[in-house]
Amino acid sequence: MTQPTEAPTVWLTTLGCAKNEVDSDKILGMLAAAGYAMAQAPGSADVVMVNTCAFIEAARQESIDTILDLADHKREDASLVVVGCMAQRYESELAEALPEADAIIGLDRYPELVDRLDALRKWTPITIGPARRSHMDILYETRRPTPSTPWAYVKVAEGCDKMCTFCAIPQFRGKQRSRAPHNIRDEAAKLAAAGVAEIGLVAQDLAAYGRDTGDGDIVSLIRSVSAVDGLRRLRLFYLYPKEIRPALIEEMTSNDRIADYFDLSLQHSSARLLRAMRRPGSGDRHRDLIESIRDAAPDAALRSSFIVGFPGETDDDVDDLASFLGDVRLDWAGFFLYSPEEGTPAATMSDQLPEEVKAERLRYLQALQDDITTEATIAQVGRTLSVVVDQVEAGQPVARSYREAPEIDGVVLLDRGEPGEWLTVEITGGYGTDVNAIVVGPA
Ligand code: SF4
Repeated sequence: MTQPTEAPTVWLTTLGCAKNEVDSDKILGMLAAAGYAMAQAPGSADVVMVNTCAFIEAARQESIDTILDLADHKREDASLVVVGCMAQRYESELAEALPEADAIIGLDRYPELVDRLDALRKWTPITIGPARRSHMDILYETRRPTPSTPWAYVKVAEGCDKMCTFCAIPQFRGKQRSRAPHNIRDEAAKLAAAGVAEIGLVAQDLAAYGRDTGDGDIVSLIRSVSAVDGLRRLRLFYLYPKEIRPALIEEMTSNDRIADYFDLSLQHSSARLLRAMRRPGSGDRHRDLIESIRDAAPDAALRSSFIVGFPGETDDDVDDLASFLGDVRLDWAGFFLYSPEEGTPAATMSDQLPEEVKAERLRYLQALQDDITTEATIAQVGRTLSVVVDQVEAGQPVARSYREAPEIDGVVLLDRGEPGEWLTVEITGGYGTDVNAIVVGPA
């Protein structure tokens, strides 16, 4: 290959969770600082990258399908690069199974990423920016300079100290490492200055932030970040129930800039199954927690995720979860089929369930929750809320209030509005996950 004179262009497809989206933003920021340009489509890019997810079997399959699909659609001379959790966890297996990939770069090796791409493209960058420093911190200092949405995620810690028996994340993401509070606040301030008015804080175990460093805790962190100039809404993701202390509920519900939105990772209501998952609590403990949140903020929006088909789950456990859902009436809930993860204690438990049993249970619980979510949606009619317009889709402004997290929950469909605008709206109707609203003024 001859030495290219123009900057190589990069396309990055991101799979998996919000934490991966943050990593992708940082990777693109790092590449932009090193002189790379962004491609408009995978078919025109010099480097096609996939940020993979390895959380469960279905996510791994989606990652492989996406890699193969992009291998088919990329230019013949373009380089295909696999990054993310799957690259971290299965580097040698992927290298063998995917000859289509030119490089497989796991999370630990992101500091080498620019050099690896330079070598693949035989390109010498003109810009020698902060991305050249070989330290993991570069990932926290670089970020796509122009955010494409009025919201963004900020990752406050990497890794996890819990030992849930179904989860392989601590094996490949390691123990919790919290970022310094000033570092997080600086990143939030840069995003706010670039036009981001809503920030979602993410980590594997967000409410345990700071426990490893002793440098602040989640309450002091959200108090400080929410005070950043220009920021209008802070949203917290992945709250491990036992880590939700009264002081956190108090700060979240009394601070106007923090959404009354509680993303609880409850996983199940059966105390026996929770013990087998090595997670604390029970259906009654979960009920108490939800009651204390609603006591502090009656209109708080509640979301949770649940695992269906964990080894040993009985019909009685499913009934228990169904009656729990009927009692607590969460606004939003996600259900995930249990899949045995290599190297986890649950994978070798003897009473694994057949796939069709798990799928049937998931359909049943999902249908039950769909009705509850619709009921919660309809209950919004008549309320006046503050929303941000995320985009205009085929002439239709699409917005969100504190109740809806981006790309996860429903949306608010407006009669007018421009991307990035904050408006006061009145909810006029709704069904399923989405509501309709008319604009009554600026927010
Ligand atoms: S809290 Fe449990 S499920 Fe969540 S990342 Fe840590 S070990 Fe995995």
